[in-house]
Amino acid sequence: MGSSGASVEAVFFGTTTVYLSDGTSGILIDGFLSRPSLLRVAFGRIAPDLARITGALARVGLTRIDALFVAHSHYDHVMDAPEVVKLLGGRLFGSESTLNVGRGAGLGEQSMTRIADGDEYRVGAFTVRVLAGDHSPGNRFPGVIEEPLVPPVRASRYRDGGCFSFLITHPGGSLLIHPSANYVPHRFDGLDVDVLYLAIGALGVQPQQFQSDYWRHVVDATRPGLIVPIHWDDFFISLDRGLRPLPRLFDRVAVARAFLDRRSRESGIAVRFPEPFEVVRPFVR
Ligand SMILES: [Zn+2]
Repeated sequence: MGSSGASVEAVFFGTTTVYLSDGTSGILIDGFLSRPSLLRVAFGRIAPDLARITGALARVGLTRIDALFVAHSHYDHVMDAPEVVKLLGGRLFGSESTLNVGRGAGLGEQSMTRIADGDEYRVGAFTVRVLAGDHSPGNRFPGVIEEPLVPPVRASRYRDGGCFSFLITHPGGSLLIHPSANYVPHRFDGLDVDVLYLAIGALGVQPQQFQSDYWRHVVDATRPGLIVPIHWDDFFISLDRGLRPLPRLFDRVAVARAFLDRRSRESGIAVRFPEPFEVVRPFVR
């Protein structure tokens, strides 16, 4: 039945791409599945890879969605989103920069909604609240995408366009998807959730004070029963090859992991690293 916690399923597709469904309605976050190589990202031009996109969706038999919410418009969040909407239907929700990626891919205005801090959207029995925030430290491509973006383009053309987290509530439970490892002090205070999808990208290279403040203003503030770390995998390799941590050149995932382990022991909050394509019931424990 659509309203019970046991009916809500989640699938992780690497980076911050998370699918949620209650059997009636489906929501996708970001939908980044192409994962072009580092060589191409650094020196070439990038574009959605339809074979990888359809291959990843087929792995879990995902054939339709109602809504796709984009956290920000860097390529590792937004690039594939319009193609996923073309394949699965549903509406693209994002910043004006994200909508310009949609326009460049040929999506019509009737398929897109520009979102802003505090907005709430109903998607079947789900409610999605939009919470603006800050990008993780070291934002390489700040700014906005000012006109329709037609790939292939350099990765640097994907400017962040503003960053969002998503509070998703359902009669069966609540979860916060927090896709960029930064915090606005006290922004999430009182926002109790059952499950926290917590970005840890670049957290391992931040000072200990930052890590500690991040925990305080994101985890302590939302008091989750479970943390699911996201944005820790090496997204320069295809999902077919499984997930492995970002190499040390970019991040210290082992440091972030040790930090989470320690805080998990101290707080009693469970941390569970997700497996790609695995269907889990986040509200059942
Ligand atoms: Zn980013």
